[in-house]
Amino acid sequence: MGSSPIIGFSIHLGTVAPTDTGSIPPWVSTGHAIPVLVEPKTSGEPYWSGWALAGDSRATAVASHDGVTVLLAGELYHRAELGSVVGETADGLSDAELLLACWLRYGPSGLRLCNGRFAAVVAENDSVVVATDHAGTIPLYLRTRPDGVDVATEAKVLAEGAGDSFPAPGTEPAPGLTGVRRVQAGTAVTLVPGSTVAEAARTWRPPHHRLIVSPDEAMNRVADVLDKAVRTRLGGPHDPVTAVLSGGIDSSSVVALASGGGRPVRTISLGTDIGDEFAAARVVAEHLGTRHHEFRCSSEELVRQLPWAVAAAEIVDAEVLEYLLPLVVLYRMVPNEGTRIVTGYGADIPLGGMHRTTERLHSLDEVIAFDMGTFDGLNELSPVLGSMAGHWTTHPFWDRDVLDLLTALEPGLKRRDGRDKWVLREAMRELLPTATVTRPKLGIHEGSGTSSAWSQLLRRVGVAESDLASVKTAMAAVFHRRTVREQEPPGEVSFDDVLDEVMSEQNLAVTR
Ligand code: AMP
Ligand code: MG
Repeated sequence: MGSSPIIGFSIHLGTVAPTDTGSIPPWVSTGHAIPVLVEPKTSGEPYWSGWALAGDSRATAVASHDGVTVLLAGELYHRAELGSVVGETADGLSDAELLLACWLRYGPSGLRLCNGRFAAVVAENDSVVVATDHAGTIPLYLRTRPDGVDVATEAKVLAEGAGDSFPAPGTEPAPGLTGVRRVQAGTAVTLVPGSTVAEAARTWRPPHHRLIVSPDEAMNRVADVLDKAVRTRLGGPHDPVTAVLSGGIDSSSVVALASGGGRPVRTISLGTDIGDEFAAARVVAEHLGTRHHEFRCSSEELVRQLPWAVAAAEIVDAEVLEYLLPLVVLYRMVPNEGTRIVTGYGADIPLGGMHRTTERLHSLDEVIAFDMGTFDGLNELSPVLGSMAGHWTTHPFWDRDVLDLLTALEPGLKRRDGRDKWVLREAMRELLPTATVTRPKLGIHEGSGTSSAWSQLLRRVGVAESDLASVKTAMAAVFHRRTVREQEPPGEVSFDDVLDEVMSEQNLAVTR
């Protein structure tokens, strides 16, 4: 793992020689552009043309050997294990080279071995495989054309272009964009550029079974698997690491494990005039001795950055945007580009942490199964949330091994003694202050006041309580149209203009 991976890419795989690599469109990710041009070695192989973005101008995006070419955005987290089965020491190999070695030994099913945060394109003979990691944490989009296929990690890059893609298996329409399709999570789609030949294979599915293990064993296993997920995400031993810390059990666990072994960790917390969790975060930062920073932003300023959150996540779901907005705002406040950021995001999904009032274990397990079956396409873990500010983000709770274990634990280990996320809290008891271990869950949109800030702004211009949800949904759709479909830079999209547009569309009077 390099500390600065390939952040994203846009590639055309075609049947005719390209004239150039294409220019980088108005693009929200920040990085060094690396041209990608690959000539076919034998007839039938596709031409590659396009570019990749990296945090480091010396990065190489593509690895090739024996007629197989690999492009990998992101990183792999079990390099040593993968090296051991492909007969190479992983040291010195880039993640793209490691995936290539894996492919040469196992073929496409090698993708089932990979635990990482990645989106990959692999070409062999006349076929191209486009693949997401187990949870699709790097969204991957494609548009098929008569002369090939365009593949990109941001949908907005593919927004311009006529015609419909054919509905390749393993893909779904991207919201609001005709002809752009998103590769599903944990899926490898094999295509023949320029044809409608395609098939899909699943590389991962959330476990449906549940494990019975003793509470002690469960705690130990959670502590071990999470510790490894955090360690493999920290970069080199001297690389600085930053953690977004709310002071809740999820982010505090990540910071505790990252600080183990004396590594210096910087922690950052966001608050607004409406709310903050600064006191809770400070308890953790002091206990663990991190270099801690508090950022405060007015709730109005926060909400006005919604176009950035939409441009990054490329979704239209207003509720999910409320979770993502504070993080997007916080990432934009981090000064040095190229920061590696770890988060506690996502622990609640396999542990059922959002369902605080769900009393019965049966219902708790049902909502966990539902949430694990429906996360795909929400783009909550998209690297673009951070990469548009030039940073790389990673989420230990959605490590494949962590997710497998947490999802599969029987629900009585998740809700126990009247406490949510019991097994995680107990696993971290030795490392964190008791106040942190027992602190009730507060969602990021609640702690930062995001949900209420957006509502307040709408109420102030006269939106009735019963119209709040529909106005938010309509605004999200307009932000999406402008920043994704029309590729307008998010900084040029005015919150007030969009609000006015939506109000007049819905025949609501603005009282400003
Ligand atoms: P939550 O919805 O509280 O589970 O938040 C998800 C993740 O976002 C947490 O685990 C933290 O890493 C981060 N986070 C949440 N709230 C804040 C905050 N106010 N400041 C910094 N990071 C936060
Ligand atoms: Mg929280």
